[in-house]
Amino acid sequence: MTPGVRLVVLGKQGAGKGTQCVRLSHYYSVPHISTGDMLRANVKTRTPLGLEAQARMDRGELLPDTLIMDMVRERLKERNVSSRGFILDGCPRTVVQAELLQDMLAPSSLDLVIDLEVPTELVLVRIASRRVCKDCQAIYSTSEPPVVKWICDVCGGMVQQRPDDTEEAVSRRLAAYEAETAPLIGWYEDRELLVRLDGVGTPDEVLERSIAAIEARRGTER
Ligand code: ADP
Repeated sequence: MTPGVRLVVLGKQGAGKGTQCVRLSHYYSVPHISTGDMLRANVKTRTPLGLEAQARMDRGELLPDTLIMDMVRERLKERNVSSRGFILDGCPRTVVQAELLQDMLAPSSLDLVIDLEVPTELVLVRIASRRVCKDCQAIYSTSEPPVVKWICDVCGGMVQQRPDDTEEAVSRRLAAYEAETAPLIGWYEDRELLVRLDGVGTPDEVLERSIAAIEARRGTER
């Protein structure tokens, strides 16, 4: 069996993090931990966390670091995560979160941080056409819809536009990315954990690049 991996994937909204993380989690048989998906599940089931998070998420604002990292800490304690690793998507998103994550993982560490690079003009096009299953979060687009419009191929749920994919919320999210998350690239570079990958191309092409980068890091180049 392929060895597990401890991976963080960075990239601006629409860079393809979610799509790649799902594929990488299948390839390496490790859980895909998406803070956005976890929060949306809480919103859907109207938990106290979901009720607290919803308005800020819909506006495209970041949630407090401690709230996010408490949620991630609990998830990382689960057995399949501690044995094989994880793929973290959407976290860390601030330097404070990165520091807290480092502390949580000590004495171990991440294997690699992938930064998926995609120009802003292209992410705007991708977000405008993105459609997501309300129930299982599977990702589609107007150019690649589910077989039966707009019913999810995976779970039969309703496929629709995300409430925070409006123009106003997207511009707020991209601004938060530049201010809070882009500095993480240098932070991880200083710790020799970062690899920058070209995120332009088909999902399969980007997956190949990601796997090649991970394997190169482990010294088992394909
Ligand atoms: P995107 O990366 O496309 O903006 P996500 O699905 O990753 O979207 O997250 C949706 C929303 O959830 C964010 O806009 C933010 O409000 C909240 N969120 C998710 N992860 C974090 C995080 N690590 N720190 C703060 N807020 C977060």
